[in-house]
Amino acid sequence: MAKIITITNQKGGVGKTTTCVNLAASLAATHKRVLMIDLDPQGNATMGSGIDKHQLECSAYELLTGQADARETIIKGLKSGYHLIGSNADLTAAEVELLQLPRREFRLQTALQPVLEEYDYVLIDNPPSLNLLTVNALTASAGVIIPMQCEYYALEGISALIGTINKINQRLNSALQIEGILRTMFDPRMSLTKDVSTHLVEYFGDKVYRTVIPRNVRLAEAPSHGLPALQYDKNSRGAQAYLALAGELIRRTERERQARPTPETAA
Ligand code: ADP
Ligand code: MG
Repeated sequence: MAKIITITNQKGGVGKTTTCVNLAASLAATHKRVLMIDLDPQGNATMGSGIDKHQLECSAYELLTGQADARETIIKGLKSGYHLIGSNADLTAAEVELLQLPRREFRLQTALQPVLEEYDYVLIDNPPSLNLLTVNALTASAGVIIPMQCEYYALEGISALIGTINKINQRLNSALQIEGILRTMFDPRMSLTKDVSTHLVEYFGDKVYRTVIPRNVRLAEAPSHGLPALQYDKNSRGAQAYLALAGELIRRTERERQARPTPETAA
């Protein structure tokens, strides 16, 4: 059964999409079955996967509004090895249309049910906001990965995100947890980076991934080739960092599964 993970931070430009695409590719490279869902109307994760967002026949918009099912929406055969549900500007309309639909916070969760057995991980990229699309992602998910740049204003806004996660916990999805905090575009030469990083570890403890993503030009170049860094330049520091992150995520998931009582031991 797939573990569904939302990648979110209402700040733009912190590395959400880069993390989603490269983590998906790294998990796929370690033979995990991965579905990536682009829930940002900007469609950057779609384009970064080598799919033209303007040419989508079925997208996250059709999935959320019930005009197509998951199987009709999923794109297979990508070089990067994961499957994709793409998005484009149509999704902006979904935000409004969802308001009129029944169980509007559960649309994504319900739509994904039929395919969850076919994947180990489902990763969801999000717009830089906390709107109904993000609420759908969080309601469907077991975990949240929060990418953060270690800069002065990084912690600002995190309290709003934590507040949203708590509300989702109480009202919509009690299983939702912070999966991990990811330090992105990391430059250890800057003392501010080190200070903010120290604060993050004090506040979030071992939720902060040991793996840090360095600032690496290959990660910024790869999307214009429609590829994850792993396919664009396997040996780049960026590609290797995301492979290490995938390893850390897999180990955490396995540890969790072992800690959880099985039906026999619980009985
Ligand atoms: P978000 O999805 O949070 O808006 P992106 O992943 O699109 O953020 O990243 C914002 C910009 O920074 C993009 O141009 C991306 O290519 C670049 N970028 C992201 N992570 C890195 C990194 N580790 N090193 C260099 N550039 C990066
Ligand atoms: Mg993005």
